[in-house]
Amino acid sequence: MKCDEAQELITALVDKQVSDQERSSIESHLKDCQRCRFIYEREQALKREIGAAGARLHAPAELRSKILSDRRIFPGPERSSGSWTERIFPAWLFARPALALALAVVLILPILYFMRSPSEPISLAALEIHKKIIGGEISVQKTSNLDELRKWQIRAVDGEFAPMEYDLSSMNMLPAGGVVEEINGRKMLVTVYAGNGLSVTCFTFLGTEEDAPKIASVFFDREKKMKFYSFSKDGFNAVLHREGSIICILVSNMSGDQLLAMVRAKVQPS
Ligand SMILES: [Zn+2]
Repeated sequence: MKCDEAQELITALVDKQVSDQERSSIESHLKDCQRCRFIYEREQALKREIGAAGARLHAPAELRSKILSDRRIFPGPERSSGSWTERIFPAWLFARPALALALAVVLILPILYFMRSPSEPISLAALEIHKKIIGGEISVQKTSNLDELRKWQIRAVDGEFAPMEYDLSSMNMLPAGGVVEEINGRKMLVTVYAGNGLSVTCFTFLGTEEDAPKIASVFFDREKKMKFYSFSKDGFNAVLHREGSIICILVSNMSGDQLLAMVRAKVQPS
């Protein structure tokens, strides 16, 4: 099975709507393909999140009992005829705007929840983590031995991916340490570079360009055919880019333009 075939079936697999034959061929693909496995795991997590959101969402008790006890909405067994739209949106509802509005809110909230980017917090969390590292609230494994740090980080994600590395020695910045952080069940490999009054924290994790926050401004590098997403918060600047299924976010006290120029210079298109 190829990736595009597998990806077409992933939603069906999450919803347990595949045949046994489809299941076994997609499962054997997922075993070998990290990228599709990541998409599958993300869909599963999203489904769990939606389920949990639905469970947290409660209509006011009075409205709830009104809706549930209304035979025109939920007819008893003797009156189960009529289409589901007639049952769910009976004509009387439109004559009672307040109740109709309340019902719409109850129905629409989960949809809005679904439309919300599920992964937006991870990129903004990176800025937060950088701030905490600089402020000493998160302690990193201090080492200038990048190989040692790298091996430790790769083990922390069971060898699924490796941290992205940058040689910033030309800017007098050297690796200072690293840590592994988990945001919404996703592991990020974090490497800190420092020197010359500057610091850069590099976050590597499995993801897609959807992990860029909506506030980001997008820069398309024609030569490298890559998109770079710049965003800032609390005086720190960040640039996100994707290499295959790996997302890299660099956060720094450098100016946004300087950081973007640096990332573009270091990145090799995959
Ligand atoms: Zn695949």
